[in-house]
Amino acid sequence: MKRIKLLFIVLLVSIIVFLSGCKNEALTTTKGTVYTTIYPLYSITKLIAGEKLTVEKLVKDGAEIHSFEPSSRDIAKLTSAKAVIYLGLVDEWVKKPLEGTSVKIFRASEGIEFIDSDPHIWTSPRLLKKIARNIEYALTSLDPKNKSYYQENASKLIASLDKLDKEFSSVVKNSKRKEFLIAHPSFGYLARDYRLKQYSITGVNEEEEPSAQKMKEIVQLIKEKNIKYILVDPNENLPAVKTIVRDTGIKIVNIYGMGIVNSSQAKNETILSLMEKNLKAFEMVLK
Ligand SMILES: [Zn+2]
Repeated sequence: MKRIKLLFIVLLVSIIVFLSGCKNEALTTTKGTVYTTIYPLYSITKLIAGEKLTVEKLVKDGAEIHSFEPSSRDIAKLTSAKAVIYLGLVDEWVKKPLEGTSVKIFRASEGIEFIDSDPHIWTSPRLLKKIARNIEYALTSLDPKNKSYYQENASKLIASLDKLDKEFSSVVKNSKRKEFLIAHPSFGYLARDYRLKQYSITGVNEEEEPSAQKMKEIVQLIKEKNIKYILVDPNENLPAVKTIVRDTGIKIVNIYGMGIVNSSQAKNETILSLMEKNLKAFEMVLK
């Protein structure tokens, strides 16, 4: 009797192991991970992919995109991915490791022209719409049977971006000021699209401190234009900002350029919720 009971347990355990094995296999073969490089692409891809695909990002929470270099573990993730979605300009490092592999690679900036070496196209709602369409195309070609699902999610996202676009236009229209000062210039494309002038402390790609001459010019600009606020991403740490605040009495307003995203933002926010916060920030500084 004891032996029969034991045999029964062994059989039951084997069946459970067998069934869970099947389930895991089904999951890995139908899903497969789509890797994105930077947070803005990660957020948009997640919004369009919904629960149909697993989406991950390579640039880790708290890391800075301009100086990011993939580790050997990152390369391993890339080469075993179902597909990789990258922006271009700032994350060209994805291309070499994928040469000669079967991993599909998509450039999210297709049809968008970069100005000089400025990669921050994701901070303009108008360009975000193009990026969203490019990502919808990527997901549809990866997984054609869910085409209408991706189409529906992309259309919802684009409707939200249309609304954001109109809100930015109306904020600019109703503001006296048509220029803004920012620590790191992540809003050049937004400035171009809404006819604003962006002044910044650092260059487009460097996070390094400005020269004494540049600092003098900024202080002079603040006085001349009677600028009251400076936009600063709280994830960036620029000592020059503290100096300027101390010397001029200018006030800091938080902005989210998404070049560095902390883990709480990566988990709890989307590019849409961060852009809504940015809209409020612009409303304040352009007043
Ligand atoms: Zn940046």
